Amino acid sequence: DAGGMTAVPGVVAVGDVARSAGHRAEHWTSAMETAAVAARNLLAGTTVETYSGLPYFWSDQYGIRIQLAGRRGSGDTVRVVEGSPEDRSFLAVYEREGTTTAVLAANRPRPFLRARRELARAGGLAAV
Ligand SMILES: Cc1cc2nc3c(=O)[nH]c(=O)nc-3n(C[C@H](O)[C@H](O)[C@H](O)COP(=O)(O)OP(=O)(O)OC[C@H]3O[C@@H](n4cnc5c(N)ncnc54)[C@H](O)[C@@H]3O)c2cc1C
Repeated sequence: DAGGMTAVPGVVAVGDVARSAGHRAEHWTSAMETAAVAARNLLAGTTVETYSGLPYFWSDQYGIRIQLAGRRGSGDTVRVVEGSPEDRSFLAVYEREGTTTAVLAANRPRPFLRARRELARAGGLAAV
């Protein structure tokens, strides 16, 4: 479930093996952040807490820091708001019906951080 509990009593699941609230998030951040919540539920013996964090991952690929936060859908539109892919440095937003669902950056860590915080404040998860 959304707190890492499984159908097996005394067993919780996090990280790459887990599907939480219908979503898989196979990234380091997810594995680390969800573990604490699952541990509290394991100790309580029931779901007392669910994951509420905005999905986020980063990766360094060929000299580019790639960061994505939120949960884009297949029908979302993407718009570059800073920089350009040609320059290997940009910030882009994914949108659906006027609402931002995710932010993506390449080599733009500071603008990305601001956009990620704004998305979290706006309840990015609720938007998807
Ligand atoms: C090549 C590669 C690059 C990646 N790059 C990124 C990245 O840039 N950014 C990012 O966010 N994520 C990245 N990931 C994904 C990230 O590594 C995983 O999401 C994360 O490690 C998942 O953590 P985990 O604890 O669920 O699983 P794991 O880190 O896989 O840990 C599972 C552990 O269980 C052990 N194990 C397995 N079976 C048994 C058993 N039967 N008994 C005992 N132990 C067992 C394994 O040896 C392993 O140590 C990358 C993954 C790969 C493969």
